[in-house]
Amino acid sequence: MSDPDEVRTHCPYCALQCGTVLARKGEDRVSVRPDDAFPVNQGGLCRKGWTAPAVLEVHDRLRTPLVRAANGDLAPASWDTALDTVAERLLRIRADHGPDAVAVFGGGGLTNEKAYLLGKFARLALGTRNIDYNGRFCMASAAAAGRAAFGVDRGLPFPVADVGRADVVLLAGANPAETMPPLMRHLEHPDLVVIDPRRTPTARAAALHLQPSPGTDLALALGLLHIAVVDGLIDADYLRARTTGFDAARQTALSWWPERVEQVTGVPVPAQREAVRRLASARRAYVLTGRGAEQHSKGTDTVGAFINLALVLGLPGREGSGYGTLTGQGNGQGGRELGQKSDQLPGSRSITDPRARTEVAEVWGVSADALPGAGPSAYELLDSLGAPGGPRALLVFGSNPVVSAPHAGNVAERLAALDLLVVADFVPSETVALADVVFPVTQWAEEEGTLTNLEGRVVRRRALVPPPPGVRSDLEVLGGLAARLGEPAGRYPSRPSAVFEELRRATRGGRADYSGVTYARLDAGEALHWPCPERPGEPHPGTPRLFLDGFAHSDGRARFADVEHRPAAETPDSAFPLLATTGRVLAQYQSGAQTRRVPELNDAAGEMYVEVHPDTMRRSGLTDGALARVTSVRGSTVARVRAVADMRPDTVFLPFHFAGSGRANLLTNPALDPRSKMPEFKVCAVRIEPCRTAS
Ligand code: SF4
Repeated sequence: MSDPDEVRTHCPYCALQCGTVLARKGEDRVSVRPDDAFPVNQGGLCRKGWTAPAVLEVHDRLRTPLVRAANGDLAPASWDTALDTVAERLLRIRADHGPDAVAVFGGGGLTNEKAYLLGKFARLALGTRNIDYNGRFCMASAAAAGRAAFGVDRGLPFPVADVGRADVVLLAGANPAETMPPLMRHLEHPDLVVIDPRRTPTARAAALHLQPSPGTDLALALGLLHIAVVDGLIDADYLRARTTGFDAARQTALSWWPERVEQVTGVPVPAQREAVRRLASARRAYVLTGRGAEQHSKGTDTVGAFINLALVLGLPGREGSGYGTLTGQGNGQGGRELGQKSDQLPGSRSITDPRARTEVAEVWGVSADALPGAGPSAYELLDSLGAPGGPRALLVFGSNPVVSAPHAGNVAERLAALDLLVVADFVPSETVALADVVFPVTQWAEEEGTLTNLEGRVVRRRALVPPPPGVRSDLEVLGGLAARLGEPAGRYPSRPSAVFEELRRATRGGRADYSGVTYARLDAGEALHWPCPERPGEPHPGTPRLFLDGFAHSDGRARFADVEHRPAAETPDSAFPLLATTGRVLAQYQSGAQTRRVPELNDAAGEMYVEVHPDTMRRSGLTDGALARVTSVRGSTVARVRAVADMRPDTVFLPFHFAGSGRANLLTNPALDPRSKMPEFKVCAVRIEPCRTAS
């Protein structure tokens, strides 16, 4: 692109990472249009993408560091004062309580370069094992299940565009019509089978909608496997040649006959049979899961059961068919595999693997013994803040856990119990409001870097405009702190390209190998999906489709999951007789810290609401359009009632983007999946009653 007033880049929000062209429009304004050449969004953008430039102009943009003064207010400070204050207090806390008294919480929207440097900073400059990120709340269950089944976890092990050529796509707990609308362009041709407790816009576009009770997807997946087995729809040759563990999975599925499944899930037997018939008769088919199936205390097992279904039909590792998860956050994938997750080192390597520790330590110029071990998961970390023996200080980069974490009331209390809370952000989020020190940092159109989208494709973020005066990049913040903490000069580069060069080396030989990816190749327009190892001579072309020649386990075979259904961690009783489930709306993104500041999105999204079936509404004494109080054992939230005739009468739905007393996460259950440590965002027991005041 030769015009200096235009750049090709990508949307700042979700994992689709739609290609965009940004252009200067007058002195300070930026316009956006879709990049027609980018195959993922095929010239489309959703409302969030179209309005993204408005976030560059928000009136309350953070433009100066803030330090909490003696009177309790956040007051403007110089960069030196803010960095000195944080470094001094960190050193004191570390001296008094040890390195694990300092913790780091990252974000799934950070670029690969930021995620990598944050992981390195936590483990070397702070020496703490206490680092995790909000991406744990996104695709951790699918990652754990994918890794167990296939030996590697990449959201989609195939390009998005492949899905458009399928005959049938089963979407379990995904609502792309609202969460990533341009994806629907790829779903126009296939027949859709949608599994969702709500009749979402995606479900309305489907050929078949199965509407299970929240928390019963696992039973439904076992039932679908049962039908495939009993009706002889399995691909026996594929099972023999490419999988292991089918017998145990088959035995479990045999006890989930359709009538039992109907009793547990509410999905009629004919609909179960129809779903399997459609999938099994397709020439090309995909099984895709989303947060609806994954954000449960049994999310890993649920995804494992859907992978089992895909395996008996012979889909994974076959061109034109497969299993994948629709990752949510912009860089949920890269953020994890480059070192923000508590148990991983760059390259998607285990932090407990001695060889991986040695290889990464060598790149970092330290001994492997200097690297801390695995720390707690995101919610466990948040829950331990300020508690006896827990961290006394927390550094938050690119996250707003006061709104987005489960049991949000408890999270706010834990943050308040800290000796030091430091937040780097570009808008004054609800978490910023609690901070002792705030670093104002760059955003999206002001910075260079890379992200890894839901297909494992590394994409370039490019700057069009300079940051406002007074704002620095997250990389500069980390470098400034590291220097004050006594780290060697040059260990934390502030140029994104320099960080990328280092992370290439640090991922070499890992499952997520970026060593053959370079800015130059990306800038030349190459589509590079990891693994893309560096090799002499002919550059590696990247790997858009994984598993065609074998799965990533040493024997090349996929593993069936041996899983059994169990109820949600919390089930309704007389005090809390309904199920609440949470999700997203088209005009908001994540905690809403950015999108609630965009007038057009705010107008479209309105205020916090709760969807209720009309019968439930009447039984509870509610009125359509009036306020209701929704209460779980952990807290209550206030929301405007929307009567929705196709809701399940036993279920209410709340979007999770709103702040204050309208936070859906005041209700949600932090019960964790034992393997992925995913909280149970998608189901908890509640009651609902009329509310006279909004507070
Ligand atoms: Fe941005 Fe996602 Fe919307 Fe695309 S679908 S424009 S990446 S928010």
